[in-house]
Amino acid sequence: MAERTDPEVADEIVAAVRRFVEREVLPVASDLEHADAYPTDLVAGMRDLGLFGATIPPEHGGLGLDVPTYARIVEELAAGWMSLSGVVNTHLIAAGLIARHGTGEQRDRWLPRMATGELRGCLSLSEPDAGSDTRSLRCKATPDGDEYVIDGTKAWVTNGETAGIVALAARAPEGITCFMVEKEPGPAHGGITISKRVGKLGYKGIETVEMAYDGHRVPASAVLGGSDGLGRGLPFILAGLELGRINIAARACGVARAAFEAAIRYAQQRETFGKPIAQHQAIQFKLADMATRLEAARLLTRNAAERHQAGERTDVEAGMAKLFASEAAMDIATEAMRIHGAMGYADELPIERYYRDAPLMVIGEGTNEIQRMVIARGLLARYPV
Ligand SMILES: Cc1cc2nc3c(=O)[nH]c(=O)nc-3n(C[C@H](O)[C@H](O)[C@H](O)COP(=O)(O)OP(=O)(O)OC[C@H]3O[C@@H](n4cnc5c(N)ncnc54)[C@H](O)[C@@H]3O)c2cc1C
Repeated sequence: MAERTDPEVADEIVAAVRRFVEREVLPVASDLEHADAYPTDLVAGMRDLGLFGATIPPEHGGLGLDVPTYARIVEELAAGWMSLSGVVNTHLIAAGLIARHGTGEQRDRWLPRMATGELRGCLSLSEPDAGSDTRSLRCKATPDGDEYVIDGTKAWVTNGETAGIVALAARAPEGITCFMVEKEPGPAHGGITISKRVGKLGYKGIETVEMAYDGHRVPASAVLGGSDGLGRGLPFILAGLELGRINIAARACGVARAAFEAAIRYAQQRETFGKPIAQHQAIQFKLADMATRLEAARLLTRNAAERHQAGERTDVEAGMAKLFASEAAMDIATEAMRIHGAMGYADELPIERYYRDAPLMVIGEGTNEIQRMVIARGLLARYPV
């Protein structure tokens, strides 16, 4: 577990990310997003800031930031462009899996290069026929001497093409196992092919792909945690998703904040019936509700981050934060659009982008229906009779 980050250091890093977003991201985000163009320069800027090593322990070359600071960084990035928070999310989930469950050799081999962003990671759990129902995944890992042969199709792999290492859930004879699959970034490597690039409503710029494994061979040393990790992939990855849910909650706060701030400014500039629309009570009530939901979302996210940092199980708290913040982001983005009237629908303002980006958060890292199941299961365990 990472040490608490010195509050002054945390404030400095968050301020540096905010400056980066204001100077580098905001001027180009909408153009890149509309072109669905990969943000190469912005990702290089994130590397320079050390963000690929944000939560990787310092002994492996990372910044070793605590989870609450990480959540603040994610909010800043997402307030500029939500896709950027996705570039680090599954990378850091993969790094967290290695840091927590990897052997010493695995940590030394991968984490220092992941911390600098030289080696980029992704998480590959979902399949075309296995999303919420992770236990039904079919991708197969067949032992063959000192190797495993991987066959199957994985779906919805964000960062799948740019990644050089994939945290892959596949079915070994002992059960679902997490393999750390090294590959060259790009459309194909060995028996791995990027079989589809998904076109998306939002979350553009960064790639979400389908990956086909056809007799792809990996060494037995790719099993996360060595032979102890065989059959334990699902609990490893599902625990890793707690950090992912905090990322999603924080990015929902970022999108919601950007939408709210745009709306409250616009409401004071746009006049109808002889006064700024902010003077109409109907608009004031919208702004009050938006700000209240944003504040509640941020407090739930901070609480989940604090609990996670303290080393406690956070399935309930991270689930609540993700559930509430993502629904709040959808509502706040919609209200921001309504407050902007026709301009909210035009592509010259980022409001339409917030509106298209927000729905991902109710789906990713477990849909909100699944969050409710996770929260309820956790609560029932806390109140035995
Ligand atoms: C843009 C994007 C990026 C993604 N990136 C990644 C990634 O990097 N890595 C990765 O592994 N996955 C990724 N995913 C996949 C994502 O995690 C899954 O889409 C998600 O878990 C839902 O799975 P599904 O789409 O198969 O929906 P399904 O499981 O088919 O669910 C369909 C609907 O049924 C509901 N439902 C399902 N089961 C139940 C139940 N028991 N009770 C009540 N309702 C239920 C769901 O809530 C949903 O509303 C990504 C998805 C998107 C859209």
